[in-house]
Amino acid sequence: MVLSDKEIREIITPLLLSGAKMLDKHCPRCGSPLFELNGKVFCPVCEQRKKHGEVELKSVEENLIQKLNMLANTLPNDVNELRKYLEVMDMIITLLEKYKRMEGRK
Ligand SMILES: [Zn+2]
Repeated sequence: MVLSDKEIREIITPLLLSGAKMLDKHCPRCGSPLFELNGKVFCPVCEQRKKHGEVELKSVEENLIQKLNMLANTLPNDVNELRKYLEVMDMIITLLEKYKRMEGRK
């Protein structure tokens, strides 16, 4: 995957500001310039992508909990609307319980 403008803005600019040194070598995987910080050479973009990948692996439960919190924080006053929210929350909780059981079996 080629480096996007967003990644340059969000990853490379803060790195430069934090004092990391940009080398004139490039990452063979994504084409980002390599950086050196505390004597360690690394590709910030690949490291970032790797981190994202790990998060996504365990995100089913996290996403559900996040959604549940979001719903709980925005409960409507209208009773009919509220009923819909509560039904969805109930479904999410059921799903979470199933998911936990699934995890426990491993
Ligand atoms: Zn890279």
